[in-house]
Amino acid sequence: MSHDSIPTLPQAELLEVAQTMLRLNTCNPPGNERLLADYLAGWARAWDLEAEVLPIAPGRANLRIRLPGEQAPALVYCGHLDTVGPGEVAWQHDPFGGETADGFLWGRGAADMKGGLAAMLAAMAALRRAAVRLPGAIVLLATADEEVDMLGAARLSAEGALCGAGWLVIAEPTGLDLVPAHRGVLWLEILTHGRAAHGSMPHLGTNAVLHMAALAQRLAGLRLPAPAHPLLPPPTLSLNTIQGGQQINIVPDFCRATLDIRTVPGQDHAQVFETVRAAVSEMSGTLPELRFELRVLNDRPPVDTASDHPLLHAAKRAAKQALGHEPPVRAVSYCTDASVLLAGGALPTLLFGPGDDRLAHQCDERVPVESLVAAARFYAALPGAVYTLADRAPSAP
Ligand SMILES: [Zn+2]
Repeated sequence: MSHDSIPTLPQAELLEVAQTMLRLNTCNPPGNERLLADYLAGWARAWDLEAEVLPIAPGRANLRIRLPGEQAPALVYCGHLDTVGPGEVAWQHDPFGGETADGFLWGRGAADMKGGLAAMLAAMAALRRAAVRLPGAIVLLATADEEVDMLGAARLSAEGALCGAGWLVIAEPTGLDLVPAHRGVLWLEILTHGRAAHGSMPHLGTNAVLHMAALAQRLAGLRLPAPAHPLLPPPTLSLNTIQGGQQINIVPDFCRATLDIRTVPGQDHAQVFETVRAAVSEMSGTLPELRFELRVLNDRPPVDTASDHPLLHAAKRAAKQALGHEPPVRAVSYCTDASVLLAGGALPTLLFGPGDDRLAHQCDERVPVESLVAAARFYAALPGAVYTLADRAPSAP
């Protein structure tokens, strides 16, 4: 396939869908993804793609768009419909205006990740219009609630949305680099329970805040054993919130803290939980009145595809066609819907999308228009490369 044989939509049509997406406010909370799902379903049907809006709650929906293929495993494209809020700082351009200026498309979600989603849709529409026949279907899963609880991905996973899938590509912003791995997330809540007393007679109470302070010290020094990973940084553990006490003259009987743990492939989250529980339990030796509870708030496993996997070879080949060069392979610091969609399964997965991941969740979020165009070319070139080069055996989801 020569450089110019990649099916594309005119840039104006790609921009128009991306701009409309930015103008539909899907800040989460509350999300309101249904608005965007309905618009995109209509857009996709106008391009003769199959589209299904999948409601999950009032005002909230996932979306599935399909370009039919033959019997081979499907190539699954994925992006989220929601964004974070615009924040308190004034923007140079209206965060919901979908404005273009200085070579960029500006707005909340331009990079994370309505831009990437628009590029995937444009690629599917272009392949459809070019009547390209593929060995397998391309299925786009657009999810609700990625930025908060990943309810959309959880629903799709429970519905078996990845059955028959061979590969998963997520359009999170990677600056058009190839990202085959990200760390997992394990969020824990620690509660300490004490006994209230008058603040003038602390010896009659048990101070839950002091107990938490001791636990915080212990946890700050906790080491989590993990295998080294060629791309990812080591695991981290950070105690990031703490609340306790009612008022200045009462010995606090309650304290709550939350721990943000980031894990790497090869770490079992149940084992990590046990390591934390054991470390807290050991503190009973020095704090005989310690009473604590530990519970999981969020459990998202890491995602890992080997850098020499056939999917990566296919992606490099597609990138050479679409971008004219072979992008670097690297890791990113954030977690994605892939953790929840895969539910611990081993589907080959790649993150690739336009926009700078460091601009995600910031004010003045924007994406270079030329990288939107380049991403759409990549997503249109990838199916050919995947079905030519990659392992066709479907993995169990
Ligand atoms: Zn995102």
